[in-house]
Amino acid sequence: MSEQKNTYRSIFLWGDKKIRPLEEGVRKLVKNKFGLTDTDLDQSHLFADDEVRLGTSPALSEKQIKELQNICGTENVKTDDYSRARNAHGYFFGELLKLRMETIDSPPDVVVYPKSEQEVAQLLAFAEKENIAVTPVGGRSSVTRGVETPQGGISLDLSGKLNRILEVNETNHTVTVETGVMGPQLEAHLNKLGYTCGHFPQSFEYSSVGGWVAARGAGQASTGYGKIEDLVLAMHVVTPVGIIQTKDYPATAEAWDLNKTFIGSEGCLGIITRVTMKIRSYRPKNTAYASFIFKDFETATSMMRKAMQSEIGVPHLFRISDPVETETAFSINGFENSVSDRFLKAMGYKTGSRCLMFVSVEGDKGYTHLVKKKTKQLAKKHHGFYIGGSPTKKWLKQRYESAYLRDPLMDAGIMTDTVETAVPWDKLISLWKAVRTYLEHREKSHVMVHISHVYENGANLYFTFLSPMKKGHELEDYKAYHKGLIDAIHQNGGSLSHHHGIGRALAPWMEEEIGSTAIGLMQAVKDHLDPKGILNPGNTLGLRAEA
Ligand SMILES: Cc1cc2nc3c(=O)[nH]c(=O)nc-3n(C[C@H](O)[C@H](O)[C@H](O)COP(=O)(O)OP(=O)(O)OC[C@H]3O[C@@H](n4cnc5c(N)ncnc54)[C@H](O)[C@@H]3O)c2cc1C
Repeated sequence: MSEQKNTYRSIFLWGDKKIRPLEEGVRKLVKNKFGLTDTDLDQSHLFADDEVRLGTSPALSEKQIKELQNICGTENVKTDDYSRARNAHGYFFGELLKLRMETIDSPPDVVVYPKSEQEVAQLLAFAEKENIAVTPVGGRSSVTRGVETPQGGISLDLSGKLNRILEVNETNHTVTVETGVMGPQLEAHLNKLGYTCGHFPQSFEYSSVGGWVAARGAGQASTGYGKIEDLVLAMHVVTPVGIIQTKDYPATAEAWDLNKTFIGSEGCLGIITRVTMKIRSYRPKNTAYASFIFKDFETATSMMRKAMQSEIGVPHLFRISDPVETETAFSINGFENSVSDRFLKAMGYKTGSRCLMFVSVEGDKGYTHLVKKKTKQLAKKHHGFYIGGSPTKKWLKQRYESAYLRDPLMDAGIMTDTVETAVPWDKLISLWKAVRTYLEHREKSHVMVHISHVYENGANLYFTFLSPMKKGHELEDYKAYHKGLIDAIHQNGGSLSHHHGIGRALAPWMEEEIGSTAIGLMQAVKDHLDPKGILNPGNTLGLRAEA
């Protein structure tokens, strides 16, 4: 592992910025699958280890920068190349490619780190007066081009200084935070007091509460805890025309739900500065774990549907890998051809159709045991073979690690991306097959699918695909493949996103997906709160590029 400093590479590397070599199991898989040699894989494709140089100065005047410094303090206003380049991108695959090509199309002119809601309000008032674009940023882990700054302006970075935990209310079971708080900071604080936030996206370690809410995300235990919209009770939103504060009522009938206007607003309507979220008791010793192998994906998903519709209690983690993802996991972990593998095959759990399921249940001991017992009974009825709790525990232990696979794969010239959707049960299998068929029409591809967020009425499908990049045409090739993929999802009855959000990447599909009247409604809300169109401008969410 080597550390990167001030290079393009240091911007796009995930998480702790330390690059791992390609794991042996993964290396073997891509060599076999794509007919590549060690020399092919060791080429350091688009390595991008030059120091960042933008070659352009900020477009804001010295007077404007001075005013920003007056509001936030000189040390909290950055105009150096590296700060601007760093905040120009998130983690959409096309953005990573551009950074690897050492291209930064349109950096923000300035990165500002406000320390309080009052400073945010002052900044917005100033930006509104001067017509300067403002793009809020938390962990910058957006995978939908949500934090790009096509009109330059201010990248308003909340993760730096607006990150205090304000109150844990043990009577109401709530926590109130400033929105720049990152996952680990929040969870560690809550765990010490015996609580958990219950929201664990794979990007948990490097994403913020504001980003979770603004991009309407889901954590890996969302089947039990709910998506972020189920967890938020109240918020403060600073807009160019005033501040909106919702209250922490457990429920209300005060017209429609204003929180939901802002959950998923992706920085287009206002800056979410404060959030009150539900918390739950943290009792890891009570957690019950179960893992199963099913004979095929159809039977496994049918068992999941029945589990959600039978009112037998709800698992928190509820996850099934399709046959290719299952076999990939088995092969990488050295399970293939082991004694257990041979035993499973002899029992009819065949390579190419069997599927691996992980279940965990949190809460009171009596509850976790009951849900586990009922889940086991239901799995048995569907010929699910119980393989104990350890595989699920092992998966949970390393659940943030797979995010680090993308960098070494891209270094080896392999396109690696994920796309996800939500779909009602009656369309799930047909969508899975159709999208898989689309992804596999490419000459060389390896496509893995899982379900990780399950509901009474349907579930998500999460597609991971690997394919050798077309050298010299990486970006065009990816864009065309990605477009066909979203078209396939859209045409087969899936949502544009279940939890990554829309950003600019999926914006072109929005009007067709929700209809022109609905887009008009969203635009009217935007025009009311942001009349000059300064907030995250440039077609985010499918809204007009300019007001
Ligand atoms: C490896 C990896 C794994 C991921 N796994 C998951 C997952 O399991 N579940 C999931 O839901 N997502 C996942 N994501 C996507 C991403 O992490 C989420 O969308 C996350 O919620 C974004 O949080 P952030 O703090 O990084 O926000 P950013 O990326 O900084 O911002 C996201 C959007 O929200 C806006 N925004 C940010 N803060 C505010 C604010 N305070 N007020 C108003 N607007 C704001 C931004 O303008 C932008 O449009 C993953 C991403 C990566 C790279």
